[in-house]
Amino acid sequence: MIVCAWSLFEFLQFMRMSATSDTQKKTNNGGGKTLTVRVDENLCIGAASCMVVAGDFFLLNDDGKAEVVENGKMKGYEYTLSNLTDAQIENILQGAKSCPTKAIFIHDEKGNQLYP
Ligand code: SF4
Repeated sequence: MIVCAWSLFEFLQFMRMSATSDTQKKTNNGGGKTLTVRVDENLCIGAASCMVVAGDFFLLNDDGKAEVVENGKMKGYEYTLSNLTDAQIENILQGAKSCPTKAIFIHDEKGNQLYP
């Protein structure tokens, strides 16, 4: 059981490192894009895969639920992130897509739902 838990931990760390390096490989193109990110706290089961994949934008709070993060600060279950690069947007979408319960909802600045 401990081995399985450790393997899962290592796998999640690997996923995060891969996502981070992908993000870092892409150059910052100046950003300027805006996304509204909402975590449905009723759907969130605290699986933390969003945090592993996109740790700059999701962290678990004291209730074990994911909150949106900006510049290392937790901003609550819904927050509008601005001045995002394409690489950051891709990372946020990867984080949302990693959620096993599809608890993360992403809208662009025009209100179009990008995910799920
Ligand atoms: S991946 Fe989904 S269920 Fe897991 S912490 Fe993030 S929002 Fe919650």
